[in-house]
Amino acid sequence: MLAVHNLSVDYGPARALHGVTIAVPRGGRVALIGANGAGKSTLVNAICGIVPIAEGTVEFDGQAIAGRAPERIVRLGIAQVAEGRQLFPGLSVAENLAMGAYTVGKAQDVKRSLAEVYAMFPVLGERRHAPAQLLSGGEQQMLAIGRALMSRPKMMVFDEPSLGLAPLYVERIFSVLDDLNRQGIPILLIEQNVRLSLTVTDYAYVLERGRIVLEGTSNNLLSNPHVEASYLGI
Ligand code: ATP
Repeated sequence: MLAVHNLSVDYGPARALHGVTIAVPRGGRVALIGANGAGKSTLVNAICGIVPIAEGTVEFDGQAIAGRAPERIVRLGIAQVAEGRQLFPGLSVAENLAMGAYTVGKAQDVKRSLAEVYAMFPVLGERRHAPAQLLSGGEQQMLAIGRALMSRPKMMVFDEPSLGLAPLYVERIFSVLDDLNRQGIPILLIEQNVRLSLTVTDYAYVLERGRIVLEGTSNNLLSNPHVEASYLGI
């Protein structure tokens, strides 16, 4: 579904990604692991057209997308649930959700998506008139996921979905992720809780200083000595 080949990204004179190659198959769940500053957000932002690509190719659903504008990429079907959620704090829940549908042409489709999001997260329906900033952290994460779903994505990218959330919300968010994947949406997951991220995915890549240094089935990586020593605190 997504094939990133030999991708490099520069911030001015500094190279942040060096020839990164990753793939997310149809229906797959793939984790991207790495320490702070390894380049995980840079990679997903490059895929989504938010940071420019210096070298390499990105193919999504059979089309070359490198260099396309972010809204074109959303329209093609990649939705990112960004780190820190990036909601519009003063706008209501319903207005934030409407923002997520800006690439969807038909009012009927928007209405249907909205009903689906409220069915998935009833609390968002109950609080539809409340400003996003008054929601709890977990509810804000649900809103961020709901907003991404409003674009009717073919694939979703989650950047640190559990960051700062109470354990109960983490469980809820990961069960939603599971449901979405079961509905056929492939998932690329960045998650600081490495053990959790390897438990809920099938395949994973380890990114260090802008390079993929290791990849394999998530199960194998869970018992890989380098992963254990560097990321699992064993
Ligand atoms: P974190 O988990 O802390 O977000 P990350 O793995 O997502 O880390 P990135 O945010 O992609 O890492 O950062 C990769 C490197 O690029 C880091 O050295 C970072 O300082 C640098 N970097 C990130 N954004 C910019 C920017 N806008 N301008 C210059 N350098 C940047």
